[in-house]
Amino acid sequence: MSMNLCDIGTIKYIQKKFGFRNSKALGQNFLTEPGVINAMVEAADIGPDDFVVEIGPGIGVLTAGIAEKAEKVVALELDKDLLPVLGFTLAEFDNVEIINQDVLKTDIAALAKEKGRDSIKILGNLPYYITTPIITSLLESGVPAECIVVMMQKEVAERIVSPPGSKAYGALSVAVQFYCHVEEVVEVGRECFVPSPKVDSAVLKLTPLKEPKVKVKDRTMFFACVKAGFGQRRKTLSNSLGAMGFDKETIKNCLEKAAVDPQRRAETLSLEEFAKLADAFSERV
Ligand code: SAM
Repeated sequence: MSMNLCDIGTIKYIQKKFGFRNSKALGQNFLTEPGVINAMVEAADIGPDDFVVEIGPGIGVLTAGIAEKAEKVVALELDKDLLPVLGFTLAEFDNVEIINQDVLKTDIAALAKEKGRDSIKILGNLPYYITTPIITSLLESGVPAECIVVMMQKEVAERIVSPPGSKAYGALSVAVQFYCHVEEVVEVGRECFVPSPKVDSAVLKLTPLKEPKVKVKDRTMFFACVKAGFGQRRKTLSNSLGAMGFDKETIKNCLEKAAVDPQRRAETLSLEEFAKLADAFSERV
């Protein structure tokens, strides 16, 4: 990297040159720790055949790290004020394309197809205000991702990796663990960004599974059970599942069929148990 984009002096120079001010609303905290960039690029095992989609390049610090190793990087950046900045900071790379678009309004599966790729890698230091919608839409939209290596608020990463029975286990844990193998890559302190955010961060590697972790008859029913169960997580399942719209008798019968004690709470159910419960609702008579 000829321009050191992790250097605070360089960042200030760029901000002044382009009259750029970080937007709090867009979650613009720029990474200044080269070790984290290396860890992300290594975790994704980026090589010369890889086509990478990056979410939120900012001033291009991670983009440059990826572009040095990958065949191609397409980076989605919502803030049009960053386009001239990125043109400047990434000028030396001919394998980077910046798309000025909202990641949540981008069909990444279609983008991969358009570029003739049946497999891509996704990386990003995510804008934290939309971490959950980004991750869930990536998983649900059938993006052909070999891996997803993303930085997020530490507490969100903890929720994603949490096993059943722990306080942080919830609907997000179930959804991500349903679709992916999850690994923790590195924890990143708030001091590794400018400006420094109020929270610490962590990088996770999500590897989408060929088949979801558990087999279910009806995926919509599975997620309806999860949503209802965790919607009122302090309530027992016999009460919280009422939000699905079934009568008490049906709920009682389905819990019995799935061999789940009605006095248990959603936070104690494994993915396998949620699957059995969802199948019981799918097969109710
Ligand atoms: N990758 C850079 C880094 O590590 O220093 C910047 C990361 S910063 C946490 C998040 C980036 O996402 C910002 O550049 C922000 O403008 C961009 N962003 C925010 N909302 C977005 C959206 N809906 N779609 C695409 N990019 C977005």
